[in-house]
Amino acid sequence: MALDLSSLQGTADRYATKSPQEILGLALTEYSPSVGIAFSGAEDVVLIDMAVKLAVPFTVFCLDTGRLHPDTYQFIEKVRTHYGIVVDTVAPQADAVQRLVREKGLFSFYQDGHSECCGIRKVEPLTRALAPLGAWVTGQRKDQSPGTRAHVPVVQLDRTFSTPERPLVKFNPLSQWTSKQVWDYIETYDVPFNALHTRGFVSIGCEPCTRATTPNQHERAGRWWWEEATKKECGLHVGENTHDR
Ligand code: SF4
Repeated sequence: MALDLSSLQGTADRYATKSPQEILGLALTEYSPSVGIAFSGAEDVVLIDMAVKLAVPFTVFCLDTGRLHPDTYQFIEKVRTHYGIVVDTVAPQADAVQRLVREKGLFSFYQDGHSECCGIRKVEPLTRALAPLGAWVTGQRKDQSPGTRAHVPVVQLDRTFSTPERPLVKFNPLSQWTSKQVWDYIETYDVPFNALHTRGFVSIGCEPCTRATTPNQHERAGRWWWEEATKKECGLHVGENTHDR
């Protein structure tokens, strides 16, 4: 089965106030086994935990940019063994990385912005990971980022990664949840989390582009801190969450 795309907005409205489990259940019912959970952070493991409990086949993939913290690699392994699931780690194209590093060095993003490096290390691998899927599930929350995630619906057509031949639907079951609800769930159900969270990191990406934040800072303040707050996306969700899309 698959959702009727012509009434996707109505489905999003109907599910807007439902629980993450119900939204995830819809994704799995309609798209299993061609549905993937994108795994990188705390929210994503909450989704994996919920999906395992729903006992419907799904896939999990993770973008291994080659620049993750050692703790993040430990975390990926912990999740894999804790749930006994396959985590597909998707690496960037070696020749593209090599060309970028040869031409601009290992830290070009500090000079000319993160979009080129994220394009090579995240967006292109994500495009490959999504190619066989009918739907994917993300841990995006509305309150995560000022400007870029304020209008995240619970389900939407992914206009960035759909092709004319193959529409791709994106589910955001935690859209309405706060960070506190995510962490309450993690505590209640003993869900594995990245050890960096115990050292002041909230939103965790690549090692050179992530730093710890203070309690009064917004969680995305630790990501690409040398750039404007409204540009703090890596290209995975850009263009999806504005009023006109
Ligand atoms: S987050 Fe930083 S290191 Fe990672 S892909 Fe983007 S620019 Fe490159």
